[in-house]
Amino acid sequence: MTKIALITGANKGIGYEIARLLAEQDVTAIVGARDEERGRAAAERLGQPYVRLDVTIEDSAVAAAKWIEREYGALDILVNNAGISAGLAQALPSTTPARALREVYETNVFGVVTVTNAMLPLVRRARAGRIVNMSSELGSLTMAADPDSPFADANFIAYNSSKSALNMITVCYAKELKDTTIKVNAANPGYCATDLNGHSGFRTAEQGAAIAVRLATLDENGPTGAYLQDDGVIPW
Ligand code: NAP
Repeated sequence: MTKIALITGANKGIGYEIARLLAEQDVTAIVGARDEERGRAAAERLGQPYVRLDVTIEDSAVAAAKWIEREYGALDILVNNAGISAGLAQALPSTTPARALREVYETNVFGVVTVTNAMLPLVRRARAGRIVNMSSELGSLTMAADPDSPFADANFIAYNSSKSALNMITVCYAKELKDTTIKVNAANPGYCATDLNGHSGFRTAEQGAAIAVRLATLDENGPTGAYLQDDGVIPW
């Protein structure tokens, strides 16, 4: 039977590529996007369905879940991809106002919890649900604390800490769901050229999407509660 996937923030960037690559594997890849025009345009390009979804608005997540339930009855794959960086330029923690963290957390952290909780009843109905959270290497506490890490100077308090929180959220859900067939993992796409970073990344969005697609299509022997990139585990 065709698997059903929801990808949040799929109108562009890595999310769009995740939807495209899943659709290539005959998955029905629902394009979740907050802007109807951009979302529908992307979905049309992909030949996939669209659902309006602003991850920061609980009513929007609940309405999207109701629509998916009506249309498909269950959800096999949830990719929590939507994310913002909201001014990585505000690098110094001491000059970054707390409201900047709140803004980023609304999407990157609270948004993931909102969408996951809205969709989980549908994921539980799937035969082997997969939840993928788009994290970042910038969320790795181990790498951030290593002065020799290539990211040692990328000291973006709002974005980086939001992804560290997302990593813990991934572990929390994986633990709650450990006795089910659902697997919950965090993906690091690497540094990809997208709007998020003014297209400064050295990888393509398609390359970044690959790990999420792999985690979205894990078989029953795959990991859960893990933090992974193309070449394997990355340190928390
Ligand atoms: P992007 O091109 O800026 O795309 C971000 C997507 O998230 C857009 O579709 C955007 O929609 C959507 N979005 C933002 N806020 C939303 C909300 N409240 N509700 C629904 N959708 C929302 O960025 P990207 O690089 O593809 O990023 C995708 C994910 O990968 C993010 O979680 C990011 O943190 C992560 N990541 C990226 C990199 C990288 O190097 N690019 C590295 C590590 C991790 P709009 O078009 O409406 O704004």
